[in-house]
Amino acid sequence: MARCVLKFGGTSVANVTRLEHVAEIIKQEIDAGNQIAVVVSAMAGNTNELVGYTHSLCSHQATLEHDVVLAAGEQITSGLLALALQRLGLKSRSFLAWQVPIQTDDSPSHARITNIPTIELEKCFKNNIVPVVAGFQGITKENRITTLGRGGSDTTAVALAAALSADRCDIYTDVDGVYTADPRLVAKASKLSSITYEEMFEMAAQGAKVLQARSVELAMKHKVNLRVLSSFIKSKGTYITSERNLVESTVISGIAHNQNEVKITLVDIPNEAANIATIFGKLTENLINVDMIVQSCSLNNKMNLTFTLLRSDLDRALPVLEKIKKELNFSEIIVDNEIVKISVIGIGMKCNMEVASTLFKTLAEHNIHIQLISTSEIKISVIIDQHYTPLAVAALHTAFDLDEKKT
Ligand code: ADP
Ligand code: ASP
Ligand code: MG
Repeated sequence: MARCVLKFGGTSVANVTRLEHVAEIIKQEIDAGNQIAVVVSAMAGNTNELVGYTHSLCSHQATLEHDVVLAAGEQITSGLLALALQRLGLKSRSFLAWQVPIQTDDSPSHARITNIPTIELEKCFKNNIVPVVAGFQGITKENRITTLGRGGSDTTAVALAAALSADRCDIYTDVDGVYTADPRLVAKASKLSSITYEEMFEMAAQGAKVLQARSVELAMKHKVNLRVLSSFIKSKGTYITSERNLVESTVISGIAHNQNEVKITLVDIPNEAANIATIFGKLTENLINVDMIVQSCSLNNKMNLTFTLLRSDLDRALPVLEKIKKELNFSEIIVDNEIVKISVIGIGMKCNMEVASTLFKTLAEHNIHIQLISTSEIKISVIIDQHYTPLAVAALHTAFDLDEKKT
């Protein structure tokens, strides 16, 4: 008997027919003698609809009231799936986060799980009841509802698997595994049979939304046996592992793209050492994170500062920057909405010097101008014009020998 957490994403629970299909998958696991806890997302599109409601009343700052609204979608699917399981003759009940409880800190819209007491879920296992837990939500010490960031049901599932010492955590979605690039963008993307936690974390952090980055971080920390697979077709999926599969020992494992950032340039800032610290200090004080940064000096003892931040933070960042502009007396704030960050990721890059030159050469061959560059041990990211996203990702995919090999 294995103990498993199965998570079903939005498209997998998009309507009653899909929920009935999911119930069949769970029944097969139970019939095989396994102990199952389930985590569900909201029906596809539902969370976006709820975000729309909150934005029509208040667009700029996420609060715990936003979280109350956003968490509602998972309540519906947890109850419906429990009903579908009961219809198949299984004992099942739903759990909202507060009923488990899934305890979190109190940061609105991106709360972190602090603890999951398992006593209620263990009671279910003892009584052969399948618990269906609403993903994405949490509860603070003060009994306030929180959410874990978009895509957060993945994190609920991994955290539960860790708390329950589960043998595996299967993330069911609408693709049959992790691919070398988003299969919806790159027709020649190939499915990976496995990928390391480290690489998967970078892929997710750089925009591959197939897993929430935080879930991979947690899985790595707690050694959760994680797999991504499809609820639509039968396949083994992709295993997230600590060891790299030798058969897939290419230098680059995948390419991710992220259109959720904007680029900001502050023009003609007086070139004094304290100014950069003032700018980033003020942004940090206002909980605005910046990603890539480049500073360039001009002859007139002025400098330009360019950086990227999340598109969703732009409305909050602009008034802060306007205030700094007055204080430091620089001339202009230029916002570029039309950018994409493309990242090539692979552990093999650690001892291979050619990755950067292949990347630059390939983009140059297509006349794609690089605006910003950043590197880490296993990743190189560039900012380019958003318009070139499909072309750049496909060209790099070919250049790094990732295209699916037809046999
Ligand atoms: P769910 O609703 O099941 O959580 P998501 O929409 O969050 O599903 O994640 C699945 C989607 O992730 C896929 O439909 C795919 O377009 C996208 N995706 C992006 N990059 C990748 C990748 N490298 N491999 C697989 N899927 C990817
Ligand atoms: N329903 C939430 C979202 O759309 C959480 C999730 O799907 O994982 O982001
Ligand atoms: Mg998701």
